[in-house]
Amino acid sequence: MQTVDVVVIGAGPAGTVAASYLKKQGYNVTILEKEKFPRFQIGESLLPCCMEHLSESGLLEAVEKQQFQKKTGAAFMLGEKRCEFFFTEQFTKGWTWTWQVKRADFDSALAEATREKGVDVNFECEVLSVTCSAEKQVLEYRDIDGNTHKIECRFIIDSSGYGRVLPRLFDLSKPSAFTPRGAIFSHLEDKNRSEKASNNIFVHSFDNNKSWIWAIPFSDGSTSVGIVSDKEKVMELAENGGEKYKSFIRDFEDLNGRFKESEFKFEPRNILGYSVGVKTMFGEGFVLSGNSTEFLDPIFSSGVTFATASGLLSAKMTDRHLRGEKVDWKTEYEDVVQKGINVFRSYVTGWYSGDFQTIIFAKTIDDDIKYQICSVLAGYVWDHSNPFVKKHDTILPTLAKVIKMREKAQI
Ligand code: FAD
Repeated sequence: MQTVDVVVIGAGPAGTVAASYLKKQGYNVTILEKEKFPRFQIGESLLPCCMEHLSESGLLEAVEKQQFQKKTGAAFMLGEKRCEFFFTEQFTKGWTWTWQVKRADFDSALAEATREKGVDVNFECEVLSVTCSAEKQVLEYRDIDGNTHKIECRFIIDSSGYGRVLPRLFDLSKPSAFTPRGAIFSHLEDKNRSEKASNNIFVHSFDNNKSWIWAIPFSDGSTSVGIVSDKEKVMELAENGGEKYKSFIRDFEDLNGRFKESEFKFEPRNILGYSVGVKTMFGEGFVLSGNSTEFLDPIFSSGVTFATASGLLSAKMTDRHLRGEKVDWKTEYEDVVQKGINVFRSYVTGWYSGDFQTIIFAKTIDDDIKYQICSVLAGYVWDHSNPFVKKHDTILPTLAKVIKMREKAQI
């Protein structure tokens, strides 16, 4: 049986960041990836904070070469109202830009760069079963020809994303408290877009905060356009090859005819009920990273940044563990990741309750407040000197209440 130091399950952003970091520390690392790359994946708008993780794992340069669309901010719209955030105007000192990427290309670039560093990246190898113990971990996987193999290692990092390999095998998933929602999306030709529109993600809120549309422009002139809503509405939009989704995108008033004549690059795809939690993020011989842990909601484009953040941190902890150091996985890993998730949970809650919109679309918004919120939107959710991070669970409802009272008094 083949034996290595670490097996990483999945070659998405979490897995490649973790594997690349560990390879740099001198470990023998193997990735087992179910799909053949390039493969489609949703999650196309990055946050500036993830640039730090790509840089530290040695993957930034490979992504830079792809010349993806630069992203410098985020624009939110509600009918005629508009609020634009610029990552140069932030509370936290960090990256002021990032990219918007077709994930097929982004993930392939990450996987190829990881392989070039000496990681054994195996595509079309699906992990079927796993046995963990204090001494050794054994994974069984199936290759493209249907043959099964076993591989032994000292430690496993599960970065299997929506596949949730270990949460499934070890019964670690727990339901999310969020309303079950879904999304329907495609890539569209975008001839009408202005240069300014290229550098931003555009988010249009509608249906009384229940639904929203994203427009994520790419460097090849096409744009990803998706609708997020409750599960039933998405299922209705997806009927008959997504006919209702297509006409909604063409006719939605707030898009001002931007996609009226656009060609859809592929049949609309949909994904339902993606919000899920986890009972624990670690166990004997393994740790979970990226979407294998908890996924909340796509509204603030936090998924890839959490994948790279937790991929990197899980690799650092694994390194220390393999060196024989005592790692407190609960306080040094799970609690850290969970803190960041909890900040975004407050903002997702604030989005669907309407508090976030009340604040950003207020008649006036204080610059300091805007810069502090901007740092959350840039992914800097571990900066506790930011009041919008530190008091994340109370600050949105409190501020929204004050704004409502103030605006009522002004009428
Ligand atoms: P993944 O990218 O899912 O990679 C996991 C890999 O594991 C896959 O390649 C898979 O094939 C492999 N795998 C699965 N099972 C097995 C197995 N049994 N054996 C071997 N390999 C396996 N995030 C953003 O940052 N920005 C966005 O704009 C954004 N938009 C989103 C929109 C929607 C509608 C949704 C639902 C999510 C969105 N996300 C977004 C979130 C994003 O999709 C994920 O958070 C991100 O892809 C997680 O990365 P990962 O590396 O954890 O997992």
